[in-house]
Amino acid sequence: MTTTSTRTLRPIIRDRAGTVEPIPAAIAAITGQPLTAVVRMLSQCIAALKGMSGVQGEVSPEDASHVALHRFGYEPHRLYADQNRHPVVGELLGAYARSPGPCERLLAICESGLAFAFLGDQVGAWTSSAPTTLRALVGEGTLELDAPVRFAMTVKAHRPTPIAAPDHKFLETVAITWPEAAIVDADLMLSLPHAATVASGLDALSHALESLWNVHRNPVSTSLAVSAARAIIHTLPQLLVQPDRPVLRERLATAALQAGLAFSNTRTALAHSLSYDITLKHGTPHGIACSFSLPRIMQLAAGRDPELDELLLTIFEVSHIDDAVASLSAFLEGLGVSVDPLTYGIPEADWNERIAQALAGARGRNFIAAT
Ligand SMILES: [Zn+2]
Repeated sequence: MTTTSTRTLRPIIRDRAGTVEPIPAAIAAITGQPLTAVVRMLSQCIAALKGMSGVQGEVSPEDASHVALHRFGYEPHRLYADQNRHPVVGELLGAYARSPGPCERLLAICESGLAFAFLGDQVGAWTSSAPTTLRALVGEGTLELDAPVRFAMTVKAHRPTPIAAPDHKFLETVAITWPEAAIVDADLMLSLPHAATVASGLDALSHALESLWNVHRNPVSTSLAVSAARAIIHTLPQLLVQPDRPVLRERLATAALQAGLAFSNTRTALAHSLSYDITLKHGTPHGIACSFSLPRIMQLAAGRDPELDELLLTIFEVSHIDDAVASLSAFLEGLGVSVDPLTYGIPEADWNERIAQALAGARGRNFIAAT
C-alpha cells in the first residue's frame, strides 16, 4: 500500500519554526509531506518557474502549488477556480460535492491568501495539525463560505512518492510536539506482545526517572514522575504474568502518560543520551537501551541533591540509596533485562568514556550530576 492511497487527509507535520503558512499547510495535508519538505519544494518550484522563459514577474502561488503537488506525485484532475472563474467558497464546495471523484483532494486558495485542503467533508488547514471537519471550521469562523476563491483544483495521486523524513532536530528541540489530545485506550494494548510490553514499560520508567535526576525538575514534573515510577515498578511484573488484564494495561498506560507529561517538562537525560548509539549500532530496542543503565546512573546521581535522594528512596521504599540501586537492578533482571553493559556491546573499560561523552551531549547536560 502506498501512503497516497488512503481516503483521509494527512496530519500536518509541523517540523519547522515560526507561524504555519496556509498554502504549505494545505499541501502538507494533501500529501502528508512534512512542512519543511513542502516549503523547500515550493521554493524550488518558484525558482524553477522563474527560470522558465515566458514567466515574468512574481510566480503566482497557484502555479508554485500546482508544480509542487505534481512533484509530490499528485496530478490535477478538475479545475474549479482560475483567473476566469472566481466562485465563493460555498459555490466551490457545492460544485466539489456534486462531483468530487474518488479520493480527489481539493486545494483551494482564497483571494485573501488563505488556503485549505478538502477531501469529502474533511478539511486540512494551518490552524491545526489534524484534519478537521467542514462544519467545525465554518463554525469557528476560519473558513468563510462567502470568501472569494482565487484558485481551486482537485488532484489525485498518480505515482507513489516517499514521504520525506521530518526535521527531527527541530521536532526534538522545540516544544511544538504537544498533542492536542491523547487517546489512552488500554483495550488497544491487550494484544501487545511480551517483548514490546517490557520495552515500552521500561521506556516509560526511564522517562520518569530521567525527569527526576534532571536539572529541569520542578514540583509538577516531580509528582507525575514519582507516581509513574511507583506504578510501573508495581504493575509491570504483574502485567507480564497476566497480559490480558485490562486493569493492569490501563494502570501502565496511565503511568506511561504521566511519565510522558513529566519528561515533556524536563526532557530526558543521561540514560537516553547513552541509548541512541546502542540502538543504532546493535539494534537494541529503545526501551531496553534506555533502561538497562538506570541503576548505574542512579548511583551516579546519588548524593548530589538530598531532595532527589529522598524521592528515589520513596519510589523504591527503601532507606538507603544503595538499596534503591540494588532494588532497581533486581527489578530489571527479574524482567530478563541484563544490567551489564557488555550485553549491549560496551566493555566495562569503555563505560566511563561513554558516560563522559553522553554527559557532553544535549540530554546528558540535563543530568543532575553533569555540573
Ligand atoms: Zn524513551
